[in-house]
Amino acid sequence: MLKTLGVAGAALGTGSVISSPSLGAKAPKGSGKNNQNPWIYAFTIGDVEAWSISDGFLDIGQGLNLMYPESERGEMKKALEERFEPTSSLQMYINILVLRRDKEVIIFDAGFGIVDHPDRGWLIEGLERIGIKRADVTAAFLSHTHGDHMAGFIAPDETPMFPNAAIYSTPEERSFWMQKTHDFSRTKRDRKALDRMVEVAQKRFELLASQIQPSPTGSEMFGGLVTVEDGFGHSPGHAMYRISSAGETLLNITDIAHSDILMFRNPKWVIGWDHDMGQAVETRRRVFKQAALQRTPCFGFHVPWPGLGGIVQRGSEESYDWAPRRLFWG
Ligand SMILES: [Zn+2]
Repeated sequence: MLKTLGVAGAALGTGSVISSPSLGAKAPKGSGKNNQNPWIYAFTIGDVEAWSISDGFLDIGQGLNLMYPESERGEMKKALEERFEPTSSLQMYINILVLRRDKEVIIFDAGFGIVDHPDRGWLIEGLERIGIKRADVTAAFLSHTHGDHMAGFIAPDETPMFPNAAIYSTPEERSFWMQKTHDFSRTKRDRKALDRMVEVAQKRFELLASQIQPSPTGSEMFGGLVTVEDGFGHSPGHAMYRISSAGETLLNITDIAHSDILMFRNPKWVIGWDHDMGQAVETRRRVFKQAALQRTPCFGFHVPWPGLGGIVQRGSEESYDWAPRRLFWG
């Protein structure tokens, strides 16, 4: 097996890319997955088949105005420019990790769902293209309640998108949103939007009530294949997942980073979407430090597709690079 990232004994298997049906066709701008670029990447983790399916992408026009501290936006701009990145918007990917072991099909978050938007909601078609129907999904993890992760668990007619799946979420996440009053004192989110956010989260939890099951941090599931880890801060019960199979590991850092540059360059730079910015920073510092020291292969929900890479410390500073893993067509 080829070893990637130079990670002794821990690298992932080779991968391959499935391109979209209109390969070679001239696609109009903004045609999302119907353009000529691939959006499904197949690889392995030990004995387990794995895919990264893009659910689409986000181009957030607020750009660096969404990042804090405000006084360091100049430095953030420089960090983006240095890497040839646009500075007028924040571009984020929506990477969904899918695992299959025998009859078990496990997805990590569900993207936007079926929506009338060319840039979003590609997961279901992606699953179909690798032969997985909605009813085949046996288990799912909901890392947190934001729309890009949770909306896709519900079909447009408000029935479950994956009717045979147990959906695991941390007890802290569900209990925060379902309580009557909410402490939003440590977020920069627009106060006017918070009531609506609570209403939407509660409705989604209610629609999914028969499927949701608590998975506290530390839970080892599927015979140790998935361990739920504490990623608290971006949301009250924000979860990460460590996948382990036959001596290989992949740490799904979910929303610990919304950029492959900013949060790595300085883990204290935060996005205004964090629920508790201080806690999000502490979590990120702990996760990055450990993943860099242990050279753990990682998967990120919002970093460039397919989201596979590693975290490398830059010199002696508390500053890191996201090192994307090479793509393979083997
Ligand atoms: Zn997200």
